[in-house]
Amino acid sequence: MKQEFELATYEVVAPHVAKIMQNRPQARNAQNNRLTYDLDACFGLAARDEDIKVVLLGGEGPHFSSGHDLKSWGKMTDPLVTTWSPSKEGGVHSRYSFEQEVFLGMCRRWRDFPKPTIAMVQGKCIAGGLMLAWVCDLIIASDDATFVDPVVAMGVCGVEYFNHPYELGIRKAKELLFTADVWDAQEAHRLGMVNHVVPRPDLEQFTLDLAARIANKPAFALKMTKQAVNTAQNNMGQQSTMDTTIALHHMCHAHNAEMESRAVRREGLPEKFRGEPAPVKAAE
Ligand code: ZN
Repeated sequence: MKQEFELATYEVVAPHVAKIMQNRPQARNAQNNRLTYDLDACFGLAARDEDIKVVLLGGEGPHFSSGHDLKSWGKMTDPLVTTWSPSKEGGVHSRYSFEQEVFLGMCRRWRDFPKPTIAMVQGKCIAGGLMLAWVCDLIIASDDATFVDPVVAMGVCGVEYFNHPYELGIRKAKELLFTADVWDAQEAHRLGMVNHVVPRPDLEQFTLDLAARIANKPAFALKMTKQAVNTAQNNMGQQSTMDTTIALHHMCHAHNAEMESRAVRREGLPEKFRGEPAPVKAAE
């Protein structure tokens, strides 16, 4: 039976296999707070159901994900955001609290989900969309899939879940970040980021077949195996890298905000955007 959340669905699609789908195709699955917490609720269902051994994560429509929905970005007043360290003060305090929970925190939580997960990626996978694919243990891409992290062009040093070096290798991570180039499914496969590339119509069936082979194995061994490989990645420094890079990322956000407010003052934009009182206007 399919369980429908506002922007995600959860369905047991084969013995021991559950499928979680982002369900916001009209917005290319742009990830707002609602979608984030709906996905987390779906992962919760899969975690608590002892019969489920493998989880698939996909996106409805032609594209896997267009990344974070900037309209809901940083909204600490959103009751969905339940961080233990909230701040409505604004500035770096609010932005950092928000991203620690909703972006980095959620991705770390899903990356450590205690059962094997497989991303099914078709169409575009942009910025925050990479984070969703990367937290999965395996990635199957259709031959039309493309990947890009363009946030350097927006003045920030890569997406919040900074897994680029571990996904792409050091040199390609630098190149793809510096250039904001799009890499296709074949290139992602060559770099080792994607396990298999399949024709678009075969994406789900191929992934289901793979999931069925994994689901034949004992649940506890799968759980320990995942933990073992994740520990190897931790020992390559992934956790401490992300603890540092999220701070660098926020230094970029803060720099952008400071430069923007200076430009606003310089260009004499409306008073509410100025950091100082508006001069008294002479009578016209
Ligand atoms: Zn950010």
